Amino acid sequence: MSILRVDNLCRRFDRIQAVDGVSFAIEPGEIYGLLGPNGAGKTTTISIIARLLDADSGSVVIGTGKGDPRRQLGLVPQEMALAEKLTGRECLAFTGKLYDLSGSDLRRRVQQRLADVGLQDRADDRVAAYSGGMQRRLNIAAALLHDPKLVLLDEPTAGVDPQARVYIFEIVEKLAAGGAAVLYTTHYMEEAQRLCHRIGIMDQGKLLAEGTLGELVAKIGARRGLCVTADGLNEPVATQLAASLECAEFEYEGDNLRMSVADAQGSLLAAVRSADQMKLALRGVSIEEPNLEAIFLKLTGKALRD
Ligand code: ATP
Repeated sequence: MSILRVDNLCRRFDRIQAVDGVSFAIEPGEIYGLLGPNGAGKTTTISIIARLLDADSGSVVIGTGKGDPRRQLGLVPQEMALAEKLTGRECLAFTGKLYDLSGSDLRRRVQQRLADVGLQDRADDRVAAYSGGMQRRLNIAAALLHDPKLVLLDEPTAGVDPQARVYIFEIVEKLAAGGAAVLYTTHYMEEAQRLCHRIGIMDQGKLLAEGTLGELVAKIGARRGLCVTADGLNEPVATQLAASLECAEFEYEGDNLRMSVADAQGSLLAAVRSADQMKLALRGVSIEEPNLEAIFLKLTGKALRD
């Protein structure tokens, strides 16, 4: 059974339809990515699910729909709510009390969450002395104290360094492996691609498509790409090589020519033959799988830049 079911959610702010008929569901153990540019409606969607905002229409059901939804979910908001004068441990203890946790149970949970996010050695330092990545991890730990079965993370890697980002990925993967359902918003394509089991592509309040990467590729008919690297590539040479493969969609930059092809395997062999006939100093030919960038471009007509 799904842990989260969102059905036909709508929310308007004056003239802006921030969320426009969004529906999706998340199963236990699944990481669902909401991918979209700034202003797509991701935060508004998460805020409605977390009961911080009311929807104009539509429904959100968590679990069986019974019990206090706030107790069943953990929210990691974009803006961190940490008391910088407190230590990491004190911060978590304070948050735990908001969930009516106390005594040895609270102490045990705080210790466990600090270890889960790799902050046990810094637990008694003040939050003000934490790096941005450490503060993010503490923020995640705070949302997990009450063992929520649904975890909402709103752009959790915004502004953190690559190392901290990988750490956060590991925390999220462990959460899902433990059976939680995770809703993860991001505007980083490679993050959605690397981390999420299913991805919902959002733009201007609408969920344009959803599925695994493979399903999205099949749905929109994105093609694989062929990348040829050769010394001394220039426009006439690139055009001639692409034409020899009957490829109309291509771009080249420096020594690299990228072509969108229907039959990547066949085109790879043909590219090697053509390059040989054209006496090109070939350095490499590789097949590129269609990625979210190509899918987003095809769905919206615009690029989703990181
Ligand atoms: P970001 O990645 O920048 O957070 P987002 O995908 O989360 O973007 P939202 O923050 O949900 O997008 O915003 C969706 C749209 O709704 C935007 O056009 C935004 O300006 C508008 N919006 C959001 N909150 C409000 C508000 N409180 N009042 C007015 N407009 C709002």
